[in-house]
Amino acid sequence: MSTEPVLDTAPAVCRSTVTHFDGTVSVREISSALADALIEADLCDLAGGGSIEISPALRSGAITLTHASTGPRDATSGEWVTAHRTNLLEPLHAPRLRPAQYRALWLVADSEKRTYGPKLRDGLVVAGLAAVPPAMTRRLFARGWFRIEHATENDKPVQRVVVSYAGRIAMTFHEHRTETAEGQWDARAWCSCRQWRTHVQADRVAVQRAARLHREERLKAVFGLHDGTRA
Ligand SMILES: [Zn+2]
Repeated sequence: MSTEPVLDTAPAVCRSTVTHFDGTVSVREISSALADALIEADLCDLAGGGSIEISPALRSGAITLTHASTGPRDATSGEWVTAHRTNLLEPLHAPRLRPAQYRALWLVADSEKRTYGPKLRDGLVVAGLAAVPPAMTRRLFARGWFRIEHATENDKPVQRVVVSYAGRIAMTFHEHRTETAEGQWDARAWCSCRQWRTHVQADRVAVQRAARLHREERLKAVFGLHDGTRA
């Protein structure tokens, strides 16, 4: 009998709390494939002019999808009301990556765009010339940062490995770690991405706000969002 643990490629990794238009609440734990499908559906709706807000949280990596719907209160009154339906998607695993985990996610994200994308083969992910070792592969699927996507290559159906939205959020947190420092007359903030820094003749609060904004912008870019709209 094999002692090798079974690779469950679609574990529940995310808690979805839906507050419906009538105020009732339902909670369930879902896979990253389903979480990504819900996010994608909302992004399509947004592109079609739907009233949807996607708010990623700066610490937990949670995402709130908010739908607004306007219509008559009931069949007889002429009164119109706007109701909201929200879906809070909270990762069950903190979006904190070790450097080796980040490199494995980066490798797969980078080769996703190629004609022959990353594949799961004999328990490891093969991406171009490189491979993610089996133990790391299992861990990244268990965290929900890798997921399987159905695609076609040479007119044949294949199962590709992709980095989920949760994985991309974790990568963004890893890439953009901001720090602030306050001198006697000014305050500074900078980011580990080395592409952003600020220096102001003001207090620490101002640079902290600027650093938060930088991280928020990078998080919104994960969804192709700029100022709440899709670019
Ligand atoms: Zn940065």
